[in-house]
Amino acid sequence: MADPVHGGGLGMTSQRARERLAVRLREQGVEDERALDRIRSVPRHLFVDEALASRAYEDTALPIGHGQTISQPYVVARMTALALRGRRDLGRVLEVGTGSGYQTAVLAPLAIAVDSVERIRALYERARRLLATFRFAHLKLHYADGLEILGDAGAYDTVVVTAAVASVPEAFRDVLAPGGRIIAPVGGDERQRLVVLERDPQGRWIERRQDEVFFVRSLRGLEP
Ligand code: SAH
Repeated sequence: MADPVHGGGLGMTSQRARERLAVRLREQGVEDERALDRIRSVPRHLFVDEALASRAYEDTALPIGHGQTISQPYVVARMTALALRGRRDLGRVLEVGTGSGYQTAVLAPLAIAVDSVERIRALYERARRLLATFRFAHLKLHYADGLEILGDAGAYDTVVVTAAVASVPEAFRDVLAPGGRIIAPVGGDERQRLVVLERDPQGRWIERRQDEVFFVRSLRGLEP
């Protein structure tokens, strides 16, 4: 039976469009089948304004209001694959920058638990309503400044940052458990590099620089 929420709108067309998108992302080098499966499963058109729904399966970032964008599918898949590489799952995830909630929906079934943080209340509320329909039991959304809060030392196995930072904040390292991994776009306003920062079991930090990306910058404080 068709699912009125997740099958609705573009229906079968969107399923085929997602298949094509996944094929394209694989051709572009995303190798992790678990990440590609999520691209196939999550109806991205639900996460953008109805007026943009017909463009939801293009490999491009799209505006979601409040000066923010839903991330480009390639980047979502790539970050997910980098976070998964060599691991059984993502463990306990902290996502900084919920935005539309699209990447949250991609990550959630690959994780043991997810805390996702958004500083713009209107986006937080919208993502909360939409993500509730997915019934991820282990997902918690927070209206908060992700550069401020963060929780206990060693609380997370994976930290995914979806807004640009000039450097990886010390606080993100503090919340990471041994063996944990941070994926963040690091750089200036114009462009950044995806940085993978890993804390090996001996507590040493290993940093790898990956693709060039473009994200909106992270900001401090809360917005209504
Ligand atoms: N992955 C999201 C990307 C959203 S854009 C998606 O696919 O929709 C980045 C988001 O990070 C924006 O919603 C922005 O408001 C949020 N953000 C920026 N700085 C933040 C901070 N300090 N704390 C929490 N969220 C932040």
